[in-house]
Amino acid sequence: MTKLLLATRNAKKLGELRRILEAEGISGIEVLGLADVPEFPEAPETAPDFEGNAIAKARDAVAATGLPSIADDSGIAVDALNGMPGVLSARWSGRHGDDEANLDLVLAQLTDVPDDRRGAAFVCAAALVRPSGEETLVRGEWRGTLVRERRGTNGFGYDPIFRPDGESRTSAELDPAEKDAVSHRGRALRALLPALWELAEA
Ligand code: IMP
Repeated sequence: MTKLLLATRNAKKLGELRRILEAEGISGIEVLGLADVPEFPEAPETAPDFEGNAIAKARDAVAATGLPSIADDSGIAVDALNGMPGVLSARWSGRHGDDEANLDLVLAQLTDVPDDRRGAAFVCAAALVRPSGEETLVRGEWRGTLVRERRGTNGFGYDPIFRPDGESRTSAELDPAEKDAVSHRGRALRALLPALWELAEA
């Protein structure tokens, strides 16, 4: 069994990667989270783009643990805000991780933006770094429109105001499996599957 570290403390992200590996029929990989390895200092996310943060986090995780490691960085890029909040999505209101305040601020900023210019994309970069130094970097995007009022209670972050293209529901109204199948993170993690097959068979 090959151990693979997903550099996160988020149980939902761990579950999602485990489900994707299972659905693909990859059985030779045991997915660990940061809670399963000795603690190491986690550097702040300072890169200007999602890819830079993902690769930096994955490199740090390999250096600290010696395990092949995946890290991701994600956020929402709003067209009317020229791609922001982007890498600042988690701290857009000034307080890291305050989902409610972040969402309220984006809604307030878009008050006067008409419906046909409320496009946005959830973006996720995911990096797999191996102890050999080999690196695989992928990106998943999920386009949609920002609605004016929260709808739905699933998910987190900006989900209650993100209506994916071709959907009448917001992503907070999708059930988790439906979201995994089409989301930016699901797409990015599935783009890593060829590299994960290699890892499983190595
Ligand atoms: P992180 O990649 O876990 O640091 O997430 C960055 C931030 O982007 C989160 O705090 C959310 O505000 C936002 N975000 C990323 N992915 C999603 C999603 O699937 N739904 C809603 N918000 C998201």
